[in-house]
Amino acid sequence: MDRPPELPPGRPLKPPPHDSPEVLMICPRCAHDALDTLAHSPVPGVWDVLQCARCLYTWRTTEPDRRTRREAYPAQFRLTQEDMDNAIEVPAVPPLHAG
Ligand SMILES: [Zn+2]
Repeated sequence: MDRPPELPPGRPLKPPPHDSPEVLMICPRCAHDALDTLAHSPVPGVWDVLQCARCLYTWRTTEPDRRTRREAYPAQFRLTQEDMDNAIEVPAVPPLHAG
């Protein structure tokens, strides 16, 4: 199990040191700015689980930058609205081979 670090209760959620308060939270994968908060840490203010309202990417705020920050998210996995508009249907699973 991955336990949150021990911190005093009521500690305010601080952005990472390299972050600035003006930076808007956006989806690391598709850069959408409408995010839902799915869960809060048992100790308040340690982490939140966020989900993008557009591409449904979900992450915990304490995950590394490559999972939580658009500029650090791997370029080959980023999505744009165009990518999603042109996404083909997920192919059906073919019938199993007998024997
Ligand atoms: Zn997204």
